Amino acid sequence: MSTEIAVGIDLGTTFSVVARLDDTGSPVTLVNSEGDRVTPSVVLFDAEDVVIGKEALKAIATEADHVAECSKRDVGYRVFHKVFDGKQYPPEVIEAWILNKLRTDAAARIGHFDKVVITVPAYFDEVRRKATQDAGYMAGLEVLDIINEPTAAAVAFGYQKGMLDAKGTASEPQRILVYDLGGGTFDVSVMEIRGSDFVALATDGDVRLGGYDWDQRLVDLVAEGFIREHYVDPREDPSTAGKLWRECEDAKRTLSARNKASVACDYRGFSSRVEITRKQFEEATQDLLDRTRFTATQALKAAKLNWDQIDRILLVGGSTRMPMVRDMLRQLSGKEPDASVAADEAVAHGAALRAGLLLAERQGKRGTFSIKNVNSHSLGVVGTDPLTGRKRNGILVPHNTPLPVTAKRTFKTQKANQKSILVEVVEGESPSIEGCTQIGRCSVQHLPPNLPEQSPIDVLFHYRTNGRLTVRVSVPDTDSKVETEFTRENSLSKEHLDGWRNYISQMAPTDYA
Ligand code: AMP
Repeated sequence: MSTEIAVGIDLGTTFSVVARLDDTGSPVTLVNSEGDRVTPSVVLFDAEDVVIGKEALKAIATEADHVAECSKRDVGYRVFHKVFDGKQYPPEVIEAWILNKLRTDAAARIGHFDKVVITVPAYFDEVRRKATQDAGYMAGLEVLDIINEPTAAAVAFGYQKGMLDAKGTASEPQRILVYDLGGGTFDVSVMEIRGSDFVALATDGDVRLGGYDWDQRLVDLVAEGFIREHYVDPREDPSTAGKLWRECEDAKRTLSARNKASVACDYRGFSSRVEITRKQFEEATQDLLDRTRFTATQALKAAKLNWDQIDRILLVGGSTRMPMVRDMLRQLSGKEPDASVAADEAVAHGAALRAGLLLAERQGKRGTFSIKNVNSHSLGVVGTDPLTGRKRNGILVPHNTPLPVTAKRTFKTQKANQKSILVEVVEGESPSIEGCTQIGRCSVQHLPPNLPEQSPIDVLFHYRTNGRLTVRVSVPDTDSKVETEFTRENSLSKEHLDGWRNYISQMAPTDYA
């Protein structure tokens, strides 16, 4: 039997990275079939063909209507916001196609594998975590674990600093604020590295804020310049807008290194070259940066720490290369941010280390490091306010509670001989149901017969370290066990998952085992 391979996948909004552990146990990035270390998380639906990565990204400039980009932003919704040839796909299916390319490309390098650890933004809620796990399943993978991107980056950092050897380390605990600004999401986690334990103290973020928003501001700046000159808006045509986005994303990178960049735009026979200075760009995106500053401050507060108690600010995610990010953090904390981990690859490396650890544990070996996580959103059940009669969120597990945690809620039957009870589970901080994410419901259908009115029904919520939830229901003081199925909102059924798994595997090149 061949030795199992541990693979970590950073499934990013704009780019994805795959890493494995080499023979010495060090994480290394795997190049894809195009020879690149990062793969654009972009899918082109071209008639019967599905093309993923670099070629799909190029197609944005010519066939924008057939290209799915930033699907990670829509994960958690029922369908992706664009329609392709009359078809609407669940975002996790688009993610599955991306994962499938990552899998087959990696298999070409290292042989067949299926066990992976996939990373998600720390701020992803339960529904999005489940959808990511489902995407892995549909891509023919066995998802060993889902871990948070900032935690993965901290693990990669710890490894780099020699904290993960078998003996652990005798060094003082280090408190790290991980500032992770990627292509589509922003995460901030306050972590404590105690020897070889990685403990999250608080986490916060924004699942719809990332480099993509900076790109769009640049697109707007260029488009406004173009309108002033030619009285037409290049954003109105999807392919021109797509091409403009690619040009602007490139110009944004230039602006990280130089004080000005220029963007060419052609539309309806008009052409312009618009020059943008770094100052203009920074002014146009100041509010986006301010949102990250506010969130970082909130996370620090939630961890009950001040900047003096933070040893290091770890920069993760390609967008932290923007000088405005570093300037802001320097000014806010009085510290020099640490860019010593590879901004694009650290997350995948941390995931590979986690995958290696899980495989070792399965083989009965002792792990060299541990991860302790907190929940990124409060978990509650829907109750009725006795005064107003309105539905409200009864929080059971508050935000930033250390995981795993088990919480119990006792419900009472409303009438004698009640046959069923409905429990609705929500995530979010808002007292009103509208401001929360509906996770799902469980309906207990076969309560024991002849229960008197006001009989207690215990509902146990078990929140695991990876942020996934299981729900169990029991009726105290009775022998009968009540089995219940937790039905999720917006989640694909097992039948659909299997259908997509077969379909995607048929569409793709076979493994190079
Ligand atoms: P990630 O998801 O961590 O790979 O981050 C991808 C994001 O980083 C994209 O929005 C890129 O445009 C952005 N990015 C990469 N390099 C740079 C750079 N030099 N300057 C500004 N943004 C960058």
